[in-house]
Amino acid sequence: MPYDKRETATFIAPGGQSYKANIEYRIDKNGISGTITPLNLVTTLGQFMRHTLTLALNDGTSYKIMVSLEPRWEFHSTDMRVIKVKAKDAAVNGQQRPAAERVLNYFGDNLPSSVLCFLDDADWSRFKTDIGPANRGLQTVVRKNTFTDDFYPPELKNSVSVGANLLFDYAIYLHGSTCANEVGLTMTLAHELQHTIQHANMRQVWAVNALVNELDRTIIQTMKLEWKDVPTEREARIVSKRAALQLHGEKPVEQYIDANIAAHITPADVSDWQFIRTLTPSSSVDLVGDTHLLFQRLKGHRAELEQALQRTRADNPQDFGDIDLDVFLGKK
Ligand SMILES: [Zn+2]
Repeated sequence: MPYDKRETATFIAPGGQSYKANIEYRIDKNGISGTITPLNLVTTLGQFMRHTLTLALNDGTSYKIMVSLEPRWEFHSTDMRVIKVKAKDAAVNGQQRPAAERVLNYFGDNLPSSVLCFLDDADWSRFKTDIGPANRGLQTVVRKNTFTDDFYPPELKNSVSVGANLLFDYAIYLHGSTCANEVGLTMTLAHELQHTIQHANMRQVWAVNALVNELDRTIIQTMKLEWKDVPTEREARIVSKRAALQLHGEKPVEQYIDANIAAHITPADVSDWQFIRTLTPSSSVDLVGDTHLLFQRLKGHRAELEQALQRTRADNPQDFGDIDLDVFLGKK
């Protein structure tokens, strides 16, 4: 038997019924492969052939798999859009996992094929102290040195890197408090997923937008820059609200937005949610054109932008190595 992991896990059929099974499997960069032996009575083994099943492992991760062969139920999946729900409570877990699945299904094949969505059951305070108290989640492009310091929760790191192997191209983290509200879960997950799409499809535009966030806070304040002024952030907000409206309807989304405004975590967060409140499903952004316009505003800060580029380039040459600020700021 070539597979190196064995456990009793659960698979969930398209209709939502769940079955216990012995599974043997291996996960690597190419996906997950293995065999399933169902334990409880599954009357017609063949009924799930060529259906997408959800395989839920005991560590909280779930994979979309396609069972291809009887009688051994072999499976192989290169779809690595994986959800990891940390909540041990069965009722909570059983609510959050399908909620996250609905968001992934909303995006479908627009998503990159390798994304880990980690739904924590607590808040990782380091993100709140380093990024801000209003932080609800984040996404990161997984690179060799992404997890070298202790900025990220160890469990996220261990879910992504196994030995020298990086299992995913992108990792998304949602705080426990974010996941506690179904609309919050949808909006934050959809927002972060949109950033993975931006990176996968328009990496240079994604990168220059990311540079703005690297500028000194005093510049951000002097320029009165808000999240909505950064085109990739504006787009993530538009897409996230559109997804939430479709999945939850208008009223719950409005209530969630109003609750965030009323919570008044920071003045910037209030104004961010006031902006999100005005967005409609037909709101749009021109990522390239609006990025050029933003950089016209930032022309006076060329030196600081160049410094920010040098720093990020040293950390992440793959994403920032070929960025030419002249394209966006004009020649010096
Ligand atoms: Zn964002």
